[in-house]
Order: sequence, then structure tokens, then C-alpha cells
Amino acid sequence: MIQVGVVGYGTIGKRVADAVVAQRDMEVVGVAKTSPNFEAETAVSKGYDLYAAVEERRELFDSAGIPVAGDLDDLVSTADVIVDATPSGIGAQNKATYEAHDTPAIYQGGEDAEVADTSFNARANYEDAVGADHVRVVSCNTTGLSRLLAPLREEFGVDKARVTLVRRGGDPGQTDRGPIDDILPDPISLPSHHGPDVKTIFPDIDIDTLGLKVPATLMHMHSVNVTLESDVDADDVRALLAEESRLFLVPAAAGIDGAGKLKQFALDSGRSRGDIWENCIWDESIAVRGDDLYLFQAIHQESDVVAENVDAIRAITDAAEKAESIATTDETLGMGL
Ligand code: NAD
Repeated sequence: MIQVGVVGYGTIGKRVADAVVAQRDMEVVGVAKTSPNFEAETAVSKGYDLYAAVEERRELFDSAGIPVAGDLDDLVSTADVIVDATPSGIGAQNKATYEAHDTPAIYQGGEDAEVADTSFNARANYEDAVGADHVRVVSCNTTGLSRLLAPLREEFGVDKARVTLVRRGGDPGQTDRGPIDDILPDPISLPSHHGPDVKTIFPDIDIDTLGLKVPATLMHMHSVNVTLESDVDADDVRALLAEESRLFLVPAAAGIDGAGKLKQFALDSGRSRGDIWENCIWDESIAVRGDDLYLFQAIHQESDVVAENVDAIRAITDAAEKAESIATTDETLGMGL
């Protein structure tokens, strides 16, 4: 059993911990937090050993009556691998602790690519993380783009990708984010950071990305245009994408007209937290004009990277090959809406 420690138990960390529990070949040895908030309460009620991420703040847990098993060093020394899901920039600060214990670590997309030996997307470059010491699972948006571009590149060739990302202003729990009533080009000048981030997975790809931020919390939406190198029609693209386990082609008959109904569908399907691990590509939006492919896809920012973290755990510990890991993760999570 791979012993997994989760450092940072927020939006991503709590989902990764639950996904690890669902696996047959790994278990959670503990989670590290800075505050004794409601997430600390639920971590304890789920049976996770709780560690104080910052030693000086340990007394806050004592005052709140929340039992603490130790500090960050204790967790890192116990774990075979750490998933660091702390806010952007903290992972880089924690790296020295992981190195001191010779414990391999997986970081999230908010960290700079330089923090890790490789950036990671299971479908695109699983092998690059095998045996690495430090791996960075790319952001929710880059994960969504990588899953889509990997099969398109392999089967049809990608001459150029142009993507406009309409981004949620904040997650449902992020009361300090916005805009509340505005539409922001973000950034105003080309490119948004997503194109360069995609290049950490596909160094030679030609991609331009533009970003907008809108008053929404549910999901991101990508307007995708990819100039292909092969002469294909929309049905060829549909057939290719339908083969991919982490791409959900939203059927016209479902009557799902946006992120709201997608989330309803996920909740009605019994998905924990209403999570949607798959890219949601509207089948009807897939169109080919000349060499140009167009489509819309929605990305659930809070959960699509969860499956990738599970695969990154197997890659970094060299516990399984790519196809086996992806299949196991998909089966245990219940991938496929
Ligand atoms: P979050 O704020 O929801 O959770 C972070 C957690 O880390 C919080 O519980 C916080 O208390 C804790 N923390 C803060 N400082 C810490 C420290 N020094 N040690 C241990 N824990 C500490 O953040 P999040 O949204 O889960 O994001 C985590 C990472 O995942 C970031 O790199 C982010 O860019 C990336 N990411 C976020 C999303 C998203 O949409 N939320 C999607 C993909 C990737």
C-alpha cells in the first residue's frame, strides 16, 4: 500500500484524500492543515489523522478541541509520497521539507513549473513522472486542454490551437473573489498563462490562449478552435473523442444547456460534492470548417485534477504503468457520466 500524506486540505486536498481512500493500492496516512476550521472537523470525522502544517498554529487546534497527530515533519516522515495542495506558492516553500525527508512530492497547478522535475497530465505524459522526485499536476484548465489535445495530436495532428477561456470568478467557497458584476479580459494582453502552461506538457505545440473572468462559480468554459493537419469531418472527431474515458460528450438529448445543468446532472447522479472529473464537451458544438475544428467544453475546476493526482501518485512511486493506472483510477472513482 502506498502511504499518501496530503498537505493542504482545502478544495483540492480534501477531494484528493477521498479519491486516495477509494483506491485499492494506496491509503491516506494523514492530512496537514493550518486552521482548525470546518474542513479540519470533517477530516477528523472521516478518520484522517490531522497534522498541524505550521507548528506555531498547533495550539489553535488544541483550543478548538481538534486532536492533532503531529506536525508537518511527522507527516512527511511517515508518508511514501506527499500530495501538496496548498495555496499557490506555499508548495514551493514546503519543497525543502519534502527534500529533507527524501519524500517525493506532487504539487498543484498554482505552483510555477520550475518547482518540479516535470509537469503532469496522465493522458499526455504519464511516463515523464515515473520515478521523478517532484511532479506538478497542471491546473484545471491545462488539464482540460491537455486531455483534449493529446488524442487530437496523435490522430489528426495539430497545426495550431486557439482557445478562449471563460473562467469562473472564484470557487463556491471563495467569498473574496470576483467579479460580482463585470466581465474582465484577464489578462487584457495576449497570451493568458494557459497557453504557456500547455507547453509544459506539449513543448512544441502552437497555441494561443485568451482569458476572461465572469461572475460564476460553477465551472470554466472553453471556446476551442484547433487547426488540424488531417482532412477530417465532425463525425471523425466525435468518434475519436468518444473513445477517451475522461472526455464526456454531452448528448443533445440530455437537454444540458450549460454549467448549471451539468452540475445538476452530477448531483442527481450521486456524485460526491457534485464533482465532474471529466471534460464536458457538447457533442452538438463539435464542428469542422475546412481544417478548423470548433467546440465548447466545460471544466469543473474543483475536481478534474483529482484523478490526475491519483495517477501522479502511481507514476512518482513507479507503482503502475499508464494504462493500468488510468483504468484503475477511472473504475474506482466511477469516471463516466
Ligand atoms: P484552498 O485554499 O481551497 O486550499 C488550500 C488549503 O491549504 C487550505 O485548507 C489552507 O488552509 C491550507 N494551507 C494554507 N497554507 C498552508 C501551509 N503552509 N501548509 C499546509 N496547508 C496550508 O486552495 P485550492 O483551491 O485547493 O488550491 C490548492 C492548489 O491547487 C493551488 O495550487 C491551486 O492553484 C490548485 N488548483 C486549484 C483549483 C481550484 O479551482 N480550486 C483547480 C486546480 C488546481
